[in-house]
Amino acid sequence: MKRFLLILMMIFILPLSAKADMETKYTLIKGSDADIEAFRKALDPWYPFQSIDSPAMMVDGIFEQTQKLLGMKKEMEKIKINLYSNDEKLYVAYLELKDTAFRGFDNARRFRAWYIHSKRTIYINTKDVDSGMLGHEMAHAIVDHYLLVRPPEKTAEILAKYVDSHL
Ligand SMILES: [Zn+2]
Repeated sequence: MKRFLLILMMIFILPLSAKADMETKYTLIKGSDADIEAFRKALDPWYPFQSIDSPAMMVDGIFEQTQKLLGMKKEMEKIKINLYSNDEKLYVAYLELKDTAFRGFDNARRFRAWYIHSKRTIYINTKDVDSGMLGHEMAHAIVDHYLLVRPPEKTAEILAKYVDSHL
């Protein structure tokens, strides 16, 4: 009986957890309500949006500002933002991707946030994020989609760093 219940629960819970929990103009954000609230607080107060409480407007504002800083405004499919409530959970996500998306990276390094082009996804720890970091990862997404040929890693990093220091 217990096993049956578990299966039933999985049938109902899995499709729910797979969908985005918040959709904004430019992004699909995945995370619990608590994650989204922590995310909003971490981004606050970002100067032009000081009085705005809506996490969606803040995220879209940072996205538009990043596009503007890069001079790369072009229609693109929404990018996904996966939220993790702490460093451990983010690290588990990293371990799952390590052998595929992180091939060739220095495994000893613990990444604070990252973007994976093949998954169109930004990975964020809500306890360790700010507007600059989000803009930095968005810059990677924008640069990779804007240019017909993805730039070398070093070039992309210079552009992304420009954004986080100017946001
Ligand atoms: Zn970077």
